[in-house]
Amino acid sequence: MKTDIEIAQEAKMLPIKEVAASYGIDEDEIELYGKYKAKLSDELWEQVKDKKDGKLVLVTAINPTPAGEGKTTTTVGLGEAFGVMGKKAMIALREPSLGPCFGIKGGAAGGGYAQIVPMEDLNLHFTGDFHAITSANNLLAALMDNHIHQGNTLEIDTRQIIWKRCLDMNDRALRNIVVGLGSKAEGFVREDHFVITVASEIMAILCLADDMEDLKERLGKIIVAYNYAGEPVTAEQLHAVGAMAALLKDALKPNLIQTLEHTGAIVHGGPFANIAHGCNSVRATKTALKLADIVVTEAGFGADLGAEKFMDIKCRKAGLKPDAIVLVATIRALKYNGGVAKDQLSQENVPALEKGIVNLEKHIENMQKYGVPVVVTLNSFLPDTEAEYQFVKKFCEERGCEFALSEVWEKGGKGGVELAEKVLYTLENKESKFSPIYPDDMGLKEKVETVAREIYGAEGVTYAPAALRAMKKFEEMGFGNLPVCMAKTQYSLSDDQTKLGRPEGFEINVRDAYVSAGAGFVVVLTGAIMTMPGLPKKPAADGIDINKDGIITGLF
Ligand code: ADP
Ligand code: MG
Repeated sequence: MKTDIEIAQEAKMLPIKEVAASYGIDEDEIELYGKYKAKLSDELWEQVKDKKDGKLVLVTAINPTPAGEGKTTTTVGLGEAFGVMGKKAMIALREPSLGPCFGIKGGAAGGGYAQIVPMEDLNLHFTGDFHAITSANNLLAALMDNHIHQGNTLEIDTRQIIWKRCLDMNDRALRNIVVGLGSKAEGFVREDHFVITVASEIMAILCLADDMEDLKERLGKIIVAYNYAGEPVTAEQLHAVGAMAALLKDALKPNLIQTLEHTGAIVHGGPFANIAHGCNSVRATKTALKLADIVVTEAGFGADLGAEKFMDIKCRKAGLKPDAIVLVATIRALKYNGGVAKDQLSQENVPALEKGIVNLEKHIENMQKYGVPVVVTLNSFLPDTEAEYQFVKKFCEERGCEFALSEVWEKGGKGGVELAEKVLYTLENKESKFSPIYPDDMGLKEKVETVAREIYGAEGVTYAPAALRAMKKFEEMGFGNLPVCMAKTQYSLSDDQTKLGRPEGFEINVRDAYVSAGAGFVVVLTGAIMTMPGLPKKPAADGIDINKDGIITGLF
């Protein structure tokens, strides 16, 4: 089998204006970024906004192995499979960050014959959205430090600064730094921090904003610090909103590219799935729903984090409703959840599968709690055996769950037709009675407890004193009606990544909480969450090169 980048480079792409035309988009409704990428203009949205919505399909997964289980691959392949069946489908995905590209995981354009292209552009600078977000984030930081330097009339307490600088790179050396060293003219000395761009609140805001007006309102609410009286100081008070919004003018517009089989893919925004909500922009999803009959989208991490936030944050806030959920499982992740070591996952092991499948069972139950019909798909890997496949199939069928094998990685769209048929059957015959797992007017603690008990299967929640204080304060500040954004390990249903399968009898430990007032959620931290990842001993960057003809190798 060829590598992802080799397959992507052999692709015969259509000019993006032809892909756009296949969805009824006119040439003057797109803004071309070269021949194969385009932004969707505001005029297009005005044209289509009153049309009827298509159906929304969310792709999510069981708790994964550290390698990723193929949600993006399945999303792309399912979109292609609908294309094979002559259906008008579109894909809505997140933009990749440079961190994982040069770190461990590699690119995020799908895999095998289920990829979106141009793969190198998408994984590297794409249309510059992340640059714009980085710039807006750092403009706010610069304005804040300048305000302090120029006399600090807002009385910002430099010990209580929340806002951090950002960079789209895994760079551990910038996690904790000192700024303002030097003479008087160099500003005040203080401790500062960098986060990766995808962890910036601006990213979450861009992804939840309806339009420019909403974007500006949200930017204004960002809390950058607290003053000496303990009151929040906002971006609005620093007069930062207009200039930040100007920097984000084009970044707010969704990007259109295509799959290897020319299905349209709207790829826009890329918030972290731990301290943010982990899915592509509301604007992109809404536009796709106007352009296609079926929209396939993905939420980051396993269903306990990604799907939960997709539904409790994104859908709740944007008035979206998922019509079906595709739950991706792999034999290797089920075995991993059954206790098999990472280097033993390629060997047949039905007993381990029997032990690990409780993880899939819990995720099926969880998704059903939202009232959305579920289709389980097994993302087929070459070492999977017939006995293992039959076991998973039988398990799902016994639970009245639609099931399909997906071979999109190996075969592209035609490897996903069985899955697409099951999804189509579900869309046509099973009604989605979607509702979020908790109401807006529940207290913050009760919201956390609802997610912990209902979704994670925890006995209860314990809070560090700092977390209790913070949550009480946010309720007093008027943020009690916001949804909670849980930051937790993706490897376990619990907050302990070594507890695999379907753990029981555990408590969730909440360490701290903070409010993303512009994005509109309260981040609840369980365990240590990294907002500026580091590079591994042998980073993926080691293997990346470009030759004299401009051909890039080693991106995967
Ligand atoms: P996720 O979105 O769940 O993180 P991805 O779709 O990005 O996962 O896939 C992670 C990696 O696994 C990619 O490099 C992809 O090429 C590879 N992959 C996905 N599905 C398969 C498969 N069926 N067989 C082999 N490799 C696969
Ligand atoms: Mg993915």
